[in-house]
Amino acid sequence: MKVNTRLFINSVIFATALLLSLNLHSQIKYDDWFTDNQMRVDYYHSGTDKTEYVMLKEILKEEYWGGTKTNLIDPYNFGSYRVNIYDSETNTLIFTYGFCSLFEEWQFTEEAKDLQKGFPESMVFPYPKKPIRLELKSRVFEDNSFKTIFELDIDPADINIKQEKLVEAEYKKIHYSNTYDKALDLVFVADGYTADEIEGFYKDVEKAKDYLFEIPPFKDLTDKINIWAVAAVSMESGTDHPHERIWKNTALNSNFNTFGSERYLTSSDYHSIRNYADLVPCDQICVFVNTDTYGGGGIYNFWNITGAKNEYYLEVFAHELGHSLGALGDEYYTDEVATEDIYNKKTEPYQQNLTTLVDFDSKWKDMLDKDTPVPTPVTSEYTSTLGVYEGGGYQAEGIYRPYINCKMKALGYDFCPVCQRTLTRIIEYHSE
Ligand SMILES: [Zn+2]
Repeated sequence: MKVNTRLFINSVIFATALLLSLNLHSQIKYDDWFTDNQMRVDYYHSGTDKTEYVMLKEILKEEYWGGTKTNLIDPYNFGSYRVNIYDSETNTLIFTYGFCSLFEEWQFTEEAKDLQKGFPESMVFPYPKKPIRLELKSRVFEDNSFKTIFELDIDPADINIKQEKLVEAEYKKIHYSNTYDKALDLVFVADGYTADEIEGFYKDVEKAKDYLFEIPPFKDLTDKINIWAVAAVSMESGTDHPHERIWKNTALNSNFNTFGSERYLTSSDYHSIRNYADLVPCDQICVFVNTDTYGGGGIYNFWNITGAKNEYYLEVFAHELGHSLGALGDEYYTDEVATEDIYNKKTEPYQQNLTTLVDFDSKWKDMLDKDTPVPTPVTSEYTSTLGVYEGGGYQAEGIYRPYINCKMKALGYDFCPVCQRTLTRIIEYHSE
């Protein structure tokens, strides 16, 4: 009896605490805690396949906080890392967001097993008015929980916080729908365009805007999106193709052949990318690389990168934006047995368009017709049916996707209804 009573009391306390914290979140008013500027914490994320360390580089005060001033506590919990900002004095959680990084992808490579390597990253959030405690958490593969990997006390009045503009570049507003706190700000940055080629960059961004605003869900959300183009000028034209021994000196240091994958176009020079992107209010970094080689990459709340002179670049860009904006997973797979599993099939992935069926209720079950079988057979009968199709996330078995074809699976298709819903929610979150 006694034990039962105690349990009951504990659960009441827990429920009350939960209600209190929900209440606190809704009471956080932007102007009480933050200025209009952005705080950027630059660091190196380093380690091996099984270890990770964070080494602080420097803290910057930047001109614009481009994000929402309404939604300060991110309810989605997407991404492999989570940033929590607490007011030091009261220990109130005043801002959170999630992201992914190039470092975690490198952790799955062969060389990570016995090599320590460091990748530049930044945490960005509205500039606090009072001292804060920053907490960086990393998702645990085994059970999807988060563990703290870095903590830092920051006094926003610290005289060592850098305030200078680190780079200069011209920029244009390509599409302007609302003030930057009430819109998702997509910031395109040029790489591998010389001064003579920079007009071409603006045209490439214009075409990307026209394309994006014709496809769902973006076509119905144009009043919630701003598009900026930052003309970072490069010394040389093009990008690095290591497998062809071609090396170019470019503003953002992009390269193909990332982690041995020829088409994987990325840049590990994150601080240079941020220097340019943060010249304007920024929610999403979109890098256009001046190359006609097919390729790209997209990492959640980090960047998306596309080879912008390739004939398929508009479709590649939209796919990569699915990763970087919506934290969507790849819905494609091969029949080859993957040597390293990116997904743990014993847990439910945070990617909204993939499920292991461990917790399907948290995914698109609410959108499913009750007559659709689970799993759903890949037959002509179901070509345009939302279902639960086996194969996705690079694995032929044990991971399921919502549609037979989707832009996250192959070029030439629209985003499926689940991907559309996720992207819509994120855009609305950023523009409230
Ligand atoms: Zn999809």
